[in-house]
Amino acid sequence: MRSESEQLCTSCGFCCDGTLFTSVPLEPAEVASSIRVGLRVLTTSDGPRVSQPCAALSHRECRVYEQRPTTCRTYQCDLLVALHGGEVSVDEARAIVDRVRELALAPANTAKVRELLRHHFRGRRGQSSQG
Ligand code: SF4
Ligand code: SF4
Repeated sequence: MRSESEQLCTSCGFCCDGTLFTSVPLEPAEVASSIRVGLRVLTTSDGPRVSQPCAALSHRECRVYEQRPTTCRTYQCDLLVALHGGEVSVDEARAIVDRVRELALAPANTAKVRELLRHHFRGRRGQSSQG
């Protein structure tokens, strides 16, 4: 049985698929291992980063889960924090993900989608934001 956070994250993937971020920070010591497992590593003035959408994401799951970088291990979006804190149930959290996904199908909803992403998902760990 999957944990509630696994149930939420495997139905989402917004922090890996380019929805939230254009890239995520990578520890310099993790560059070689990240390239080895197939991640697309960028060299930027802020240091190494993993390009998003991530090459390791497959059907909303991480193909390199056991070898994922530190940033990925430690990142929690606001919705996941709310789930851990008991502020939302896993069904409520998944409904928010579904709502964002549904709205994102129509370009006319861009502003609404951005508002929902800002409100429910923005984490605070130095990722380069999308949009
Ligand atoms: S954006 Fe949040 S809920 Fe979605 S996969 Fe990432 S941590 Fe999980
Ligand atoms: S390595 Fe895995 S957890 Fe990290 S961004 Fe890529 S798919 Fe997501």
